[in-house]
Amino acid sequence: MTPGFAGHTLKIMLIPLRELPPEGALFTLADQSAWLAPIRAFGMKCAVSRPLVASVSVIPAESGCLARGRLAGTVVLPCNRCAEDASVSLTADFEEFEPLPEKARENGEESRIVLRDGVPLLDLDALCWEEFLLALPLAPLCRPDCKGICPACGTSLNNGPCACARDGLDPRLAALRGLKMR
Ligand SMILES: [Zn+2]
Ligand SMILES: [Zn+2]
Repeated sequence: MTPGFAGHTLKIMLIPLRELPPEGALFTLADQSAWLAPIRAFGMKCAVSRPLVASVSVIPAESGCLARGRLAGTVVLPCNRCAEDASVSLTADFEEFEPLPEKARENGEESRIVLRDGVPLLDLDALCWEEFLLALPLAPLCRPDCKGICPACGTSLNNGPCACARDGLDPRLAALRGLKMR
């Protein structure tokens, strides 16, 4: 814990790496606008139903920094099968080494460290945003056994069979099938 950093929720979290003590410092990204702004900017269908909070310990190193943390919260995404609300509880632990920008360029990687007048600053917002994207499920479901929507009429099959299914059980059609079998 470093006085002046710990407990502070900055609007844009740019952390001056050279000012950190060797053992690092803990930062908390709990300002919901830090998550909601990019969600809106990217036009993502994603609502936050339990505040997203990332706690990240940042340990400076000669060639960059180590970021170790946890992201937690609950979001509501469209179900992959029926597009209804799917509540997704997120808990993700992560550990990333962020190289200094020039080192990253050499390796063809991207860095979340920016240089301002030669001073390396870790863009914690960007780091947490990437961890958030990684933590999202590829195919969120409103419930594990979601039956999806009928491809013919678009009705959600979670509320029971649609008219198409009932047509399949139409007594007249059943009678025809019966005729064929005879
Ligand atoms: Zn569903
Ligand atoms: Zn149908």
